[in-house]
Amino acid sequence: MLEQAKSLLEHYFGYPDFRPGQQETIHHLLQQKNTLAVMPTGGGKSICYQIPGIQLKGTAIIISPLISLMKDQVDALQATGIHATYINSSLTNKEQQERMRDVVAGHYTFVYVAPERFNSPAFLNQMKQIPLALIAFDEAHCISQWGHDFRPSYRTVVSELQTLAPLPPVVALTATATNEVMKDIQQLLHISEENVVKTGFARDNLHFQVVKGKDKLSYIRSYLKNHRNESGIIYTATRKQADMIYDRLASIDFPVRKYHAGLTEDERKQAQSDFIHQDNMIIVATNAFGMGIDKSNVRFVLHYQMPMNVESYYQEAGRAGRDGEPSDCILLYAPQDIQLLKFLIEKSELEEVAEQKEHRKLQAMTNYCHTHSCLMAYILKYFTNEPQDYRCENCSNCQERSEKINMTEIAQMILSCVKRMEERFGTTMTAKVLLGSKVQKIRSFGLDRISTYGLLANYTEKEIIAWIQFLIAEQVLAVEEGKFPTLKLNSGSVAVLTGKRQIWMYTAPVTQTEAADYNETLFSRLRTLRKELADEQGVPPYVLFTDATLRDLSRYFPETQEEMLEMKGIGEKKYQQYGETFLRTIQQFKQEHPDVKKKIPIGSSSAPTATAPRPKSTGQSHRESHRMFQNGKSLQDIAGIRGMSEQTIENHLFKAYKEGLTIAWDIFFTAEEEKTVLDIWQETEERRLKPIKEQLAETYTYTKIKAVLVKNDKM
Ligand code: ADP
Ligand code: MG
Repeated sequence: MLEQAKSLLEHYFGYPDFRPGQQETIHHLLQQKNTLAVMPTGGGKSICYQIPGIQLKGTAIIISPLISLMKDQVDALQATGIHATYINSSLTNKEQQERMRDVVAGHYTFVYVAPERFNSPAFLNQMKQIPLALIAFDEAHCISQWGHDFRPSYRTVVSELQTLAPLPPVVALTATATNEVMKDIQQLLHISEENVVKTGFARDNLHFQVVKGKDKLSYIRSYLKNHRNESGIIYTATRKQADMIYDRLASIDFPVRKYHAGLTEDERKQAQSDFIHQDNMIIVATNAFGMGIDKSNVRFVLHYQMPMNVESYYQEAGRAGRDGEPSDCILLYAPQDIQLLKFLIEKSELEEVAEQKEHRKLQAMTNYCHTHSCLMAYILKYFTNEPQDYRCENCSNCQERSEKINMTEIAQMILSCVKRMEERFGTTMTAKVLLGSKVQKIRSFGLDRISTYGLLANYTEKEIIAWIQFLIAEQVLAVEEGKFPTLKLNSGSVAVLTGKRQIWMYTAPVTQTEAADYNETLFSRLRTLRKELADEQGVPPYVLFTDATLRDLSRYFPETQEEMLEMKGIGEKKYQQYGETFLRTIQQFKQEHPDVKKKIPIGSSSAPTATAPRPKSTGQSHRESHRMFQNGKSLQDIAGIRGMSEQTIENHLFKAYKEGLTIAWDIFFTAEEEKTVLDIWQETEERRLKPIKEQLAETYTYTKIKAVLVKNDKM
């Protein structure tokens, strides 16, 4: 049955592999076990009940407290050719009855309902008449009174359910559950420990960043300028701030909406709908906004002020990048903000114990702004209470000293090779086995038949030996001294092999290729097409294809149905509906641009031969340049190493600065030069570079002038 699950994943959703936790959850459900799945936002919880919902006989009931999401989810299922509907208070009574009739007639594989529906005896009666495949509790933390969003009506569903016998398997899904909440859910829904599936909270496509000591509004402005065609949220602490920022941005013609509790319901609805349906829309909002926003291509979440606690921060920031594409979560920090938050806590007139708890949480949030370790790890530690040696390599803290690279995977390969060789050999032999060497000695011991043989064939023997020595120095691998020193595993090795411990190694900076590895023109054209089709059908664009899919198309330029089906997120049904239209656009684009090269999908052969494993590309080329610059390389050197023009590198640095990274400005100009440029800038009416340069001495290069202006937020 799991085989079938996998082919359904491919067929309907167009994904080749399950994400962590999905297969396990599906497996439990197919075995009729009640299951709890705790997976991060964007981790793919829907698939966990959608696939078994298709496989198991009968109708699947999905209970969700987020009415605003139901329509989108149903639309998304319909778009993949699965029969689904929803019944909630947004429909007239007549519509509700009609839909219910169709449900009883077995027309639907999926029915989405709000918890309140279970208060209706008529509904319960109808449920008794049909075979049920499963019952899913989405956002299951709302069921627990220990959760941060308790809904009493959600809890009463449980007792109502008892009247339905026999009960189908039940699955509870949530992204935010402390241990306490998990226990509560398990007890209520009779989920035993072995049927709890928990993947980490980490979101590795999110770039976390804390920006300090900047004028916040200028920062936001320049950030938005650099992210013109993207959609994002700016969170504020108060309505007043939201109004203020909204006014500023609207006055300089950014596509922006606002959302807070001071607006009428209609105004809020409209703002939300505009945000969901437009790919370049910014929304300025208080924390009233967000619950029930499933827009997958939110590219950034900026916090104008830090929130009260890490829970809120992670939830709000986590609305970025549900589609798994690189996205920014940036917190603008100013010390005085803490005063306001303290004041709000005191004003809320909590009992003393509760108030202290809030203060402690605020302190933890403040610590986040000051930590020097990985920001993602900080958050994970906060939620799990376990020390983390995790580094995301993506947050501002990791990137600013990313001289280290993650060696864990290679370490695991080496250690498991030692194990497979039964801890009987030394460094050189182990390296040769990993390399896949054909020397006689290896064959005579039968070592060419073990599963780790040739695992590191893309590296040199010298490199592998160096790594083994490094692992020994790190004490995650032991050497038994003797005439022939042999490698042995120790308790440190076990921690690495089981993924409990990460291995980091210092290395020289590794250059990456230019970031935009897809064709941006085609991407924006496909986006327009997607928008047109979506509007025709009255659904949000990402319901048709996610940004990740469009990027794949703009990378590989598929020409045939088969090639199209290989792209991320395109299953057969989607292909039938939209495939040809998109293929035509791609074809047309290629005719117009015969010279653009497509990428070859990552296959097997041409693996890297670099001296160090390449860190994963985060699509942040400018940060790579910035990093090299901070490590003392000149613009010219960086340009040479990266095969780009100096001008590009310059722009990279300035972009990085605008995103909050620091730059050693004294390499560009002296304090005196800075003052001169600024004076001229003040006097010059036409604020372009050329007229300014004309008034300065030869030694003031464009680079110099530009650097001064960027530093002072004048361009
Ligand atoms: P959650 O409910 O956990 O926040 P969703 O179910 O909304 O997440 O899924 C988030 C995104 O991940 C969706 O765009 C979905 O299509 C995508 N996704 C889900 N499963 C997979 C998978 N196995 N491979 C690739 N993408 C997936
Ligand atoms: Mg979900």
